[in-house]
Amino acid sequence: MAANRRHVLAGMGATLAAGALIGRARAAEPGRKFGYAIVGLGSYATNQIMPRLKDCEHARLVALVSGTPEKLQRYGEEYDIPATHRYSYADYDRIRDNPDIDAVYVVLPNSMHAEYSIRAAQAGKHVMCEKPMAISAAEAEAMIAACRQAGTKLMIGYRSQFEVHNLHAMELARSDALGQVRIITSEHGFDAQPNQWRLDKPLSGGGSLMDIGIYSLNAARYLAGEEPVEVTAMELTDRSDPRFATVEDRINFQLRFPGGALASCVSSYTSNHNTYRVHGPEGWLRAEPATSYTDHQLWVHREGRTEQVRLPTPAKNQFVAQLDHLPESIMAGTEPRSNGMEGLRDMRIIEAIYQSAREGRAIRLTA
Ligand code: NAD
Repeated sequence: MAANRRHVLAGMGATLAAGALIGRARAAEPGRKFGYAIVGLGSYATNQIMPRLKDCEHARLVALVSGTPEKLQRYGEEYDIPATHRYSYADYDRIRDNPDIDAVYVVLPNSMHAEYSIRAAQAGKHVMCEKPMAISAAEAEAMIAACRQAGTKLMIGYRSQFEVHNLHAMELARSDALGQVRIITSEHGFDAQPNQWRLDKPLSGGGSLMDIGIYSLNAARYLAGEEPVEVTAMELTDRSDPRFATVEDRINFQLRFPGGALASCVSSYTSNHNTYRVHGPEGWLRAEPATSYTDHQLWVHREGRTEQVRLPTPAKNQFVAQLDHLPESIMAGTEPRSNGMEGLRDMRIIEAIYQSAREGRAIRLTA
């Protein structure tokens, strides 16, 4: 796998820039929906993404990629995907010859994101890739370069950036509704079950931070509306717990933003959290659950009163809005909101968080 990934990263230079203009024209064909191939038929793909594709305005499910023939058959039948549109990993590069596939959605273990995204770009396909974008900033940079060279778009599956409570919280935090933002707290964690790839560093790239702490980081950045300039971090992991032989359990971090806000972030594999708060001199907001699949709740405190924010149910939930956003960006000829650079920024900060925890010092971040 590692050798294959190296080969793909090295072979990037041979890619032709062709996809975007073709993709733009095809995505705009009247009545034609943008076709996604789902790569990796695990829990998130089959329980959250594939069922939501039928609700999309601009997109549909057209192909499946899996290493398990039984899954290809089962989901192929369930979603009416013909045998010609079902691929094994060995067959994967043949997606190049399938004009129904406009983009792949990579929903594999983290260490496979870069390879399968780059191979998709080399096949002339647009890429939606799950978070974390990759297991290092260098891999994330290679993904951006591959898509740029191929002329295809790259988007990262930051679904919360398409969820209405999160969008409302962003708007409040970035306006003067709370006064100038001083403090952000952002907490994400769960009690990790043993024996899964998330706990195997070669596949996950790291522990809670790569998987769930990234929500604390991404939320702190989108609430602040700017990029942090300094980070400090502290890790605490019980290495006698067999779950944590290769990855970290808790790693908390602080971010300093140039506008004067401080963020305090939790990342945990042994306690449950899904919340953030934003505080300014004029009030605060609190979201809990903040970045869940459903049932988001948001409160705002201003002028001595706390009120729950009741938002109308949107026409598109966060999954549908995210899935439609890639074809919308292609049709409009614009960059997706959560593009490769957005994923890369998180990867660079994640590396700085690990470095800070390891070296016990603050790390300055450059843009
Ligand atoms: P999962 O274990 O349920 O699925 C992973 C899939 O990859 C499985 O189908 C498995 O068969 C396949 N696979 C291929 N090669 C593998 C290998 N060498 N080892 C293990 N599995 C292999 O995981 P998941 O929860 O679906 O997560 C997949 C990706 O989606 C991850 O990157 C994760 O971070 C992301 N995810 C995102 C969200 C979200 O809300 N955005 C939620 C869950 C997961």
